[in-house]
Amino acid sequence: MVETEHAIDLLEQLGLPSSAVSLESCLNDASRQDSTYLGFLTSLLESEQQVRQQRSLETRLKLSRLPQKKRIDGFDFDFQPSIDERQIREFSTLAFASRGENLIFLGPPGVGKSHLGIGICMEAIHKGMTVYFTSMDRLMADLSKADREGRLERRWKVYRRPDILMVDEIGYSRLRPEAGNLFFQLVCMRYEQGSMILTSNKGFGDWGDLLGDTALATAVLDRLLHHVHVVNIRGDSYRMKERKKAGGLFTPAPPLGSGNAVQTGQK
Ligand code: ADP
Ligand code: MG
Repeated sequence: MVETEHAIDLLEQLGLPSSAVSLESCLNDASRQDSTYLGFLTSLLESEQQVRQQRSLETRLKLSRLPQKKRIDGFDFDFQPSIDERQIREFSTLAFASRGENLIFLGPPGVGKSHLGIGICMEAIHKGMTVYFTSMDRLMADLSKADREGRLERRWKVYRRPDILMVDEIGYSRLRPEAGNLFFQLVCMRYEQGSMILTSNKGFGDWGDLLGDTALATAVLDRLLHHVHVVNIRGDSYRMKERKKAGGLFTPAPPLGSGNAVQTGQK
């Protein structure tokens, strides 16, 4: 007993707290199953490793600031035939990220751009990578504030460090000139350093207007598109589908008894 307590103390001192907790049950299992010394040691270390991996996953998930935990497996590819499922499955292997390539999802609202981007980020986190998610509005507000307060150098680290930086919703608001310049600096910083996943409801032809400067937009796109996969989604909004299914807005039920009534949509 004293010996067990001493071993538990040593495990704690050596920074193996999970092994300290599970030592006694592992010892019991080992004697019940007549395990070898090596079998016992392996099962003790495996339990330590499992707890560490789970904790690391939870930490990276929290630090990623992902707004939802959408998964690729929850995406209905049949609903959006303009998307090549095989290509998305290939992105889920994260080979693009290890090559430092960018992904850009373009398309109208509700077609699944954010869902796919977040789903790929979730795969990355489960593979042990680090991710940081932001929206264009939040990014710009954050960088502009840091710039005004003279904290920009320190703030860049947040966007430089992660293996994948996702910037969602590019194009909903036009950037002021200083903001356009900060975005350019960010793209330069990530260029050939780490992957970005971007989503936008605007085609590249509109980015000049969006960044408030055509020359700046050209320079931004030149870097972004050098190593890139662009997924152009054309199709219906999934939100509309869900609304229709819920029997709302556009499909009022015909009055009772009107056997041959024609549905006309909105009244
Ligand atoms: P976007 O970013 O293109 O505006 P989102 O990815 O936010 O669209 O999708 C809107 C909502 O619809 C989200 O809740 C998303 O999970 C869901 N969604 C979109 N497309 C699909 C799909 N093909 N299968 C399952 N859910 C979808
Ligand atoms: Mg979106």
